[in-house]
Amino acid sequence: MGILRTINQVFNYTNSISKILRYPKIYVSEISDSLYCEWRKVLELNYGKVRTKEMREGTKIHKEFLSFNISDIDEAEIQIQSGRSVSFPAKVGFIHKEKKLMVSGQVDSAFFYQDRVVKILEFKTRKNPKIYESDILQAGIYALSFEEMIGKELDDLEIQIVVGQRVDRGSRKHNGSAYSSKVEINISESYRFKEIKKYVSKKLDYILDFWSGRREPNVAFSKDICNNCHFYRICNRKIL
Ligand code: SF4
Repeated sequence: MGILRTINQVFNYTNSISKILRYPKIYVSEISDSLYCEWRKVLELNYGKVRTKEMREGTKIHKEFLSFNISDIDEAEIQIQSGRSVSFPAKVGFIHKEKKLMVSGQVDSAFFYQDRVVKILEFKTRKNPKIYESDILQAGIYALSFEEMIGKELDDLEIQIVVGQRVDRGSRKHNGSAYSSKVEINISESYRFKEIKKYVSKKLDYILDFWSGRREPNVAFSKDICNNCHFYRICNRKIL
């Protein structure tokens, strides 16, 4: 069986087991987002998530930028077997036995070559051309998930974070790949997984203590975070 089918099978199996065990499923994007204010996650659970116009636009840009992905697993496996490098939006997940929950998510793009996962690409859209700690954490948790699913250390795995915006300027190339004509790359950084693995594992462990109810939620650590929060008006823990 090819690597994509194996990963898919492990994901489905893990999903079923977590349902049988009644372990909550926590999404990687939620874990990385809670880095800035865990209390906001509590408010989102109570009042719902706010979806802004910028977020909807970001979803569209995401689709455009990631249109180079192969979405059909059979087609992707055929291409891998014929020796090509393939990018695929794989679902990942593993059970954290100590915290009794499932960490789950879907990578923007994972690159496979010769039955190995060689790169994870995480794409962000934002006006401010900046890579945040949460971006690195998110991609790093995807990498940890692949390690758990494959059962092998992936120290040489490349992690690339790309921040882009939508513009209309004809076709562009970045790092040798042709991307959509309407997406401009503002910033791109790459890391080896082994450079950030310790940090990612430690941070995940700490954040999952909140998600598994082992400690009280932290609040924002800066006034800027609160000023940009949708719950500013109703939150009684904000920094004034
Ligand atoms: S206002 Fe500040 S403390 Fe309150 S939820 Fe938002 S970010 Fe957190």
